[in-house]
Amino acid sequence: MRRVISISTRLTVWFGVIFLAGWVLFGAAMWLNLQRNLSAERHLTLSRRIDRLQEMMRRNERAPAASRAGDFRDFATATGGGRAEVFRADGSVLWPSPSSTDFSWPPVGNVSSESFFSIHAEGQPYLVIERSFRDEAWGPLVLVAAAPQAANLELLAEFRHGMFTLAPVLLLISMAGGYWMSRRALGPVDRITVAVRSIGIRNLSERLPVSRSGDELERLAETCNDMLARLEVAVLKLKQFTADASHELRGPLSLTRTIAEVALRQPDVDASSREALNAIIEESANAAVLLEQMLELARADSEPTSLILEPVDLAEIVADGCAMATTLGARKNIEVSLALGTSPALMVLGHASSLRRLLWILLDNALKYTPSFGHVRVSLENSAGHALLRVEDSGIGIAPGDVPRIFDRFYRADPSRAQVEGSGLGLSIAKWIADTHHAEIQVSSHEGQGSRFTVVFTLA
Ligand code: ADP
Repeated sequence: MRRVISISTRLTVWFGVIFLAGWVLFGAAMWLNLQRNLSAERHLTLSRRIDRLQEMMRRNERAPAASRAGDFRDFATATGGGRAEVFRADGSVLWPSPSSTDFSWPPVGNVSSESFFSIHAEGQPYLVIERSFRDEAWGPLVLVAAAPQAANLELLAEFRHGMFTLAPVLLLISMAGGYWMSRRALGPVDRITVAVRSIGIRNLSERLPVSRSGDELERLAETCNDMLARLEVAVLKLKQFTADASHELRGPLSLTRTIAEVALRQPDVDASSREALNAIIEESANAAVLLEQMLELARADSEPTSLILEPVDLAEIVADGCAMATTLGARKNIEVSLALGTSPALMVLGHASSLRRLLWILLDNALKYTPSFGHVRVSLENSAGHALLRVEDSGIGIAPGDVPRIFDRFYRADPSRAQVEGSGLGLSIAKWIADTHHAEIQVSSHEGQGSRFTVVFTLA
């Protein structure tokens, strides 16, 4: 089965994906920028330090060697955690770093002017600058200085950590915001869906709510309303046509029947004409029933709540219906029995003649689809605030594939199984009556064994 994912959920996921992609790009760009700036700042600091050292060396060029060594020590000590050292061109140390004597400097010598190196010394990363210098007293020298990188790397690590920690929180906020926004934006669609669902052929004059927002949803609601207006006109024309056609047909049908009945009364009618006239009378009676059923359903469609419901005694209606069915059943040798339960009256809110019609449709079917010497059992019982009306027969039953369709208009389950007259409209009318009484019709049937129709009413 295809899984349905709502637009809100899809939008939320999109918000999340877009936010995450944006966050990753933003974070990477910021991180690279920070790294570049920190590195540039470190290079600049070291360059300036060597500038100062170079300046000091130039100033003291003629001073005695011991004083120069002292000045260098002072200079190097003042660099804090940094290191500075002066090498001869052959790589031997002229003035060692005062803070550490075994600092693993990169190899010196062949320094054309200025170079930078990254090294690992004393368990942490350092950036090192080397600059060549020609001293009047010492000849070619190499001035070196180093600055620890740990603080910068820590800063970068903290930045990365912050980005990773914030990501799920911001992702959640952005997805929640996305969901809330999409729900808000799609709220009118839900309202339109509910309104469209509630509109059927019986309330075509209703219209959808139109929010004056000037957006696509306003146009959608207006387009739906235009369509409803066109449908309403078309349905009105159809109803008028059905009513006119039925009215026009009623007259000729009853006239045909009357003419046939009059002709049948003539003494000189021969046997074959009598048979033909009887067939005409029977067929026109069937056609009249069909016409009435069609009219009934057409009215049901156009006037949804035309029935006025009032308290009626279901037990009385069932007893009357069963009495009629018993007489009819006797002609076919079908036994009709009634079990009314213990309570003398079962009151429901209903329309008495419609309920009689509903019961009769079920009883008529039970008698029609039950062969001679079968039985029809009717029962009415009070069960937990409900009245259960059952009509059970020992007839031909209904194939499982037909059961869901027997309430459809004009549906007849394989008529060849039972040579029975019918229109396929009875159960549609029964369903409509049940619906208007907020009752439910349940069917259980076994082919060749019989069927049971249960109507569940709510007690008044
Ligand atoms: P119909 O005029 O054909 O009886 P209905 O709408 O009353 O029309 O019933 C629809 C179909 O349901 C019938 O054609 C029949 O095949 C099946 N059906 C209804 N009631 C019974 C029953 N008691 N036993 C067997 N089949 C039934």
